[in-house]
Amino acid sequence: MPTFTTPRALIEACLGPPEREPEWRAVAERYAVAIPPALAALIDRNDPDDPIARQFLPDGRELDRRPHERDDPIGDDLKSPTPGLVHRYPDRVLIKLASVCAVYCRFCFRRESVGGGAPLDAAAFAAALDYIRERPKIWEVVLTGGDPLVLSARRLAEVTRALAAIPHVEILRWHTRLPVAAPERVTDELAAALASGHDKTVYVALHANHARELTPEARAACRRLIAAGCTLVSQTVLLKGVNDRVETLEALMRGFVEARIKPYYLHHPDLAPGTSHFRIPIAEGQALVRALRRRLSGLAMPTYVLDLPDARGKIPIGPSYLEGAGPDYAVVDPNGGVAAYSDLC
Ligand SMILES: *Cc1c(COP(=O)(O)O)cnc(C)c1O
Ligand code: SF4
Repeated sequence: MPTFTTPRALIEACLGPPEREPEWRAVAERYAVAIPPALAALIDRNDPDDPIARQFLPDGRELDRRPHERDDPIGDDLKSPTPGLVHRYPDRVLIKLASVCAVYCRFCFRRESVGGGAPLDAAAFAAALDYIRERPKIWEVVLTGGDPLVLSARRLAEVTRALAAIPHVEILRWHTRLPVAAPERVTDELAAALASGHDKTVYVALHANHARELTPEARAACRRLIAAGCTLVSQTVLLKGVNDRVETLEALMRGFVEARIKPYYLHHPDLAPGTSHFRIPIAEGQALVRALRRRLSGLAMPTYVLDLPDARGKIPIGPSYLEGAGPDYAVVDPNGGVAAYSDLC
């Protein structure tokens, strides 16, 4: 089965009624569309509210741009000293290696910059390497895009080799959706390209938003990465109509832990253009996280984060359980009761 990239192909695959073709065409003229076979197969064609369909099928509401939405929602461009490199925190940089993805998520925070164009070119990658080499404080390099794992295993091995040759870089972290979007592309060769031939520590942050994305094939792809020596963490975007129920988040977080993926971040959605139909108020997100904490072990809990506009950075925005300024606190206990606690040494 091919990847569906046009409204016509989506309709021919019965992923929506023919009446939607004009709406989908209007969206596809503005934003990239791609649904690979593994995800098309997960869409429940009989459920108008299917959480998989909602993430990937175009929707006319994407053209409803709100005044507070931004092309560069988190301010990457403000902190980009060389092309494709973002340096926002002293000890880590981010490199956008590829500008394409195996699937295009309708809520993507980089939707204005992904979907076309060439991968980071040799000159820009060389400039990024020089920048990192000259700054011994840079301990971690985050590889992202787009989805960097769409590159060939050979290219990934070259990138890994170049970064691993920098003595002060200890951590390589790859952000990807590929194990879910196209698990068959996460081959042993690709996994080895990330983890072999060097002594650095490699993390892979898997983006998944619903437990149904963690198919046996996706889990097998994750196992190949783990077997090669990568440590897996998760990232999830909190999305209205996709995972904004506590049962849904609980199933997803348990799925991650069972697949040897440590839940890392639950992102509040960024102010990307045409994504207001995916956002819920932060107060609702906090209530969900509070309810989640009552159901899950600490191991299964992600950190709820907001990435501030204008490159001000990511901050935890989870619920607070502690009230008062000390030494006398009111603390919310795991059952929702309030306990008094005196913070005496
Ligand atoms: C998100 C991000 C990172 C990684 O941040 P963590 O909180 O360590 O996951 C690094 N650099 C940039 C520019 C980022 O946006
Ligand atoms: S895989 Fe990531 S970068 Fe690509 S469209 Fe989805 S959210 Fe955006």
